[in-house]
Amino acid sequence: MSLQKTTEEIELIRSSALLVSKTLGMLASEIKPGVTTLDLDKKAETFIRDHNAIPGFLGLYDFPNTLCMSPNAQVVHGIPNNTPLQAGDIISIDCGVLQNGYYGDHAYTFAVGEINPETEKLLERTKASLYKGIEAFCIGNRVGDVGYAIQQYVEQFGYGVVRELVGHGLGTTMHEKPEMPNYGKRGRGKAFLQGMVVAIEPMINQGTHRIKQLKDGWTIRTADGAPSAHFEHNVAIVNGKPELLSTFKYVNEALGIVTDEEAPFRAVPLEI
Ligand code: MG
Ligand code: MG
Repeated sequence: MSLQKTTEEIELIRSSALLVSKTLGMLASEIKPGVTTLDLDKKAETFIRDHNAIPGFLGLYDFPNTLCMSPNAQVVHGIPNNTPLQAGDIISIDCGVLQNGYYGDHAYTFAVGEINPETEKLLERTKASLYKGIEAFCIGNRVGDVGYAIQQYVEQFGYGVVRELVGHGLGTTMHEKPEMPNYGKRGRGKAFLQGMVVAIEPMINQGTHRIKQLKDGWTIRTADGAPSAHFEHNVAIVNGKPELLSTFKYVNEALGIVTDEEAPFRAVPLEI
């Protein structure tokens, strides 16, 4: 579909993105030691269907589940299973929905119980890099400016930016143009346009940027076994500026996190 969405299309994508936000918020309260990723997957599927939508990943390219669940050294595309989560784990949850013909797609990396301070920093900084990227998604900039902003921020900590997997446009299909790498050079690549809608999704490794794919044909993990974090938002360009369509507000409420990090990227405060 077109790179430039109409106001009506942006509102439909916002509605789908917010259902993903609510799903992540629901899951945030359920994540604890002993829970399996398959339990969480079932809860998410029920929640999405109860809201008159369908899971966006289930069956997409033959993916077998509702959620991509990627613990610890897994980067993305992990398949839910019966292994209980343990205190000290991190779990990246990526969720998509399709509602009224439009997709929402966003992700958050959760701590399970207490995690070590280095891993805590990886999560904080990966989330911070997402907002650096969003800030650069505006008229006058290009694809490379977003990747540059993310890469510059995280590499100062010695982290690795995954190269092989990237963000993307979204709309009536889950993955549309343009590709949105989390690395890049200033002023390079496609110029951003009014009405563009993208998923910005830094995948940041505590160690090397290199990855491996597991034999299941899906799971991506870090080559060195160090942890990896993934945070993703859906963003439109409205009046030349980035407008957040998804929100971590529900997750923050469930986890007791107080932050105004989203405020600069919303023309009208979100009503819940
Ligand atoms: Mg995603
Ligand atoms: Mg995505």
